[in-house]
Amino acid sequence: MDAISYERATDVGAAVAAASQPGVVFIGGGTNLLDLMKGGVARPVKLVDITHISGMDRVSALPDGGLRIGALVRNSDAANHAWVRERYPLLSQAFLAGASAQLRNMATVGGNLMQRTRCYYFYDTAFVQCNKRNPGSGCAAIEGNNRIHAILGASPQCIATNPSDMSVALAALDAVVRVTGPRGERAIPFADFHRLAGDRPDLDTTLQQGELITAVDLPPPLFAQHAHYLKVRDRASYAFALVSVAAALQMDGGTVKAARVALGGVAHKPWRATATEQALTGKPLSRDTLQGAAALAVRDAKAYRDNGFKIALAERAIVRAVEQAGGVA
Ligand SMILES: Cc1cc2nc3c(=O)[nH]c(=O)nc-3n(C[C@H](O)[C@H](O)[C@H](O)COP(=O)(O)OP(=O)(O)OC[C@H]3O[C@@H](n4cnc5c(N)ncnc54)[C@H](O)[C@@H]3O)c2cc1C
Ligand code: SF4
Repeated sequence: MDAISYERATDVGAAVAAASQPGVVFIGGGTNLLDLMKGGVARPVKLVDITHISGMDRVSALPDGGLRIGALVRNSDAANHAWVRERYPLLSQAFLAGASAQLRNMATVGGNLMQRTRCYYFYDTAFVQCNKRNPGSGCAAIEGNNRIHAILGASPQCIATNPSDMSVALAALDAVVRVTGPRGERAIPFADFHRLAGDRPDLDTTLQQGELITAVDLPPPLFAQHAHYLKVRDRASYAFALVSVAAALQMDGGTVKAARVALGGVAHKPWRATATEQALTGKPLSRDTLQGAAALAVRDAKAYRDNGFKIALAERAIVRAVEQAGGVA
């Protein structure tokens, strides 16, 4: 068993200073990190407990009409916060689609953003071949069991998917991730926070060593009236998405004024379907328009041995989610 040291930080500066060295990691609710440590997948030398930092567990209004959700807000509290439910129902729905009530009570917003892929081979250290866990070793999933793996933006080195439901809604809402690190504060547009695997599958995000996520900012609510999060999974609860869709619309009568569509379960990061969004804008929500727009989202999709079903599933899930958002389903 590895020796691990532990430090409890009570303010942001102390947490950042304590985590400046490689091998030191923050711990929030521990619902992902502790599983990874028990399985020998994560082997930190030191844990910096951030759950006692004051001020990071609040939801507050921003001057521009948006909302700031502290990184230590528990997933349950974020989902059920009156402002989140009323102004960002897409996000509330996505939170509630994730994990179980017990896990949501523990899991933090920051930890949810940073949770690791659910690729079977990544979690099982008996498999040596995993470029994400063991850089340069290969990828057991490409020729192996890959039913849950990526169909979009995959790399020859890793075909893992991002498992977070919350992040799919945040991608659609154009959230901003606020971080503080050794070089000060940064505001990271959501599209730039998670990475495609490329030639560095070991890196899930653009966060640097020692950078602490302090909050997620949401822009003013434009999509409160017409939003739907659809999660397709093997079981009705307590299962990760095979495909999920965050759909949000601004409607002008029966015509789409603006559309946001993001997909989960299909890529190494939450996947914005921008061609679909453009194809919907200015159009009535007819079945023909929707099917044509949904097809654009998967035109570059690539299937592996077991996951070809995800291509048709994603297309149909987009149609269904946008119809639900627009109130025509
Ligand atoms: C059985 C099971 C089912 C699940 N099902 C789902 C599901 O359906 N959908 C879904 O979305 N999720 C699901 N989850 C995952 C769950 O949402 C995550 O485990 C949880 O969100 C992680 O939050 P945490 O606070 O516990 O993070 P931790 O486990 O504490 O940390 C996770 C990672 O985040 C880092 N971290 C934590 N906070 C910060 C911060 N503020 N700044 C920088 N880094 C930070 C840690 O260093 C660590 O690397 C499931 C988990 C389990 C165990
Ligand atoms: S898909 Fe990625 S995480 Fe899974 S085995 Fe391949 S390299 Fe590892």
